[in-house]
Amino acid sequence: MGVVDESGEVVRWKKQPTPRNRESILQCIQMLVGDGLGICTASNHDIVGVGISTGGQVSFKKGVIVSATSLIPNWSNVPLKEIIEGRYNVPVYADNDGNCYAVAEKRFGKGKQLDNFIALVLGTGIGGGIYVDGKPLRGAGNFAAEIGHVSVDANGPECSCGGRGCIELYASGSGIARWGLENPLLRHLVGTKGELTSKIIGEASRAGDSSATSLLRAAGGRLGLAMAGMVNVFNPECIIISGSLLELGSPYLDEFRSTVVRRAMKANGLGLRIESSDFPQEGGILGAAALAFEEVGGASD
Ligand SMILES: [Zn+2]
Repeated sequence: MGVVDESGEVVRWKKQPTPRNRESILQCIQMLVGDGLGICTASNHDIVGVGISTGGQVSFKKGVIVSATSLIPNWSNVPLKEIIEGRYNVPVYADNDGNCYAVAEKRFGKGKQLDNFIALVLGTGIGGGIYVDGKPLRGAGNFAAEIGHVSVDANGPECSCGGRGCIELYASGSGIARWGLENPLLRHLVGTKGELTSKIIGEASRAGDSSATSLLRAAGGRLGLAMAGMVNVFNPECIIISGSLLELGSPYLDEFRSTVVRRAMKANGLGLRIESSDFPQEGGILGAAALAFEEVGGASD
C-alpha cells in the first residue's frame, strides 16, 4: 500500500505478505486502505481516490476480480470496488496489474510523451499493458495485453492459462528456473531440495558459468521473439521494461533487445526504442495510484 501524490512521489508505503485465503486478503486490503486514508488526512493531502492493482483478470468497469492467477488462491468473483466503497466513502478503481503499470508509465514515467508503447513487467511472471493511440488497450472484456501468454512453442509445456509453450514458461523468473531444471548442464546449480531460481542462474552467469549464461541468452531470445510479434502487430515507439529480472543484466537483456530488432519487420524495428523504466520496482504502487488519478480525471492540472 502506498500514498502517492499527483507528481508520482510515493509519500509513504507499507509492505505486507499476501495472506493465503480470500477473507484474510480482503481484511488486509481494507485495513491497508484505512491506514492510507489516515496518512492522507494526517498529512493534509486531499484524497482523490483509491486504486487497486491486482493479479488476474479484472472487470474494470465493475471493479470485480473475475478470475485470479494460481499465485493468489480463491481470488475470483471478488466485488472489490463495492466492498471497499461500502466501507470507506471514497471512489475505488481496480484493474489488472499489467494494465495499471502501463497507466503508471503513461502518467509518471517514460510513456508520458508517447501514444504507442508496450509496458513490459519481467518478474516472477510476465505481464504488461499496451497503449494504442494514447489509450490503454483493454479489449472486449478488459483481458487484452496478456503478454506472458503469447506462445513461442506449440509443443511446449502446459501453462496455467490452458495454453502451451507460453513465453512466461521460458523467460519469466519462474520460467527461467523451470527451464533451468530441465537442463542437465545446470544440475550443479540445483539445491538439495531441488530448488533453482533465476537469481541463482544470474549469479552463476556473472561468476563466469557459461551454461548459465547460455540459458539466460536463450530466455532473452525467446522473449525477443514473442515481442517481435507484438511489435509487428502494434508498431510501438518504445518498449518500456521493468521488474526484478532487469537485474539479470546483459546476457538476458542484450539478447532480448537484439532479437526484437532482428526478428521484427524492418519498418517496425527501425527506430523502435527499448528502455528501462524509471521505477523498476515501484510499478505496482504507482500503477494503482495512476489508475485512480486517470479515472478521477485531470487531477494533475
Ligand atoms: Zn499461458
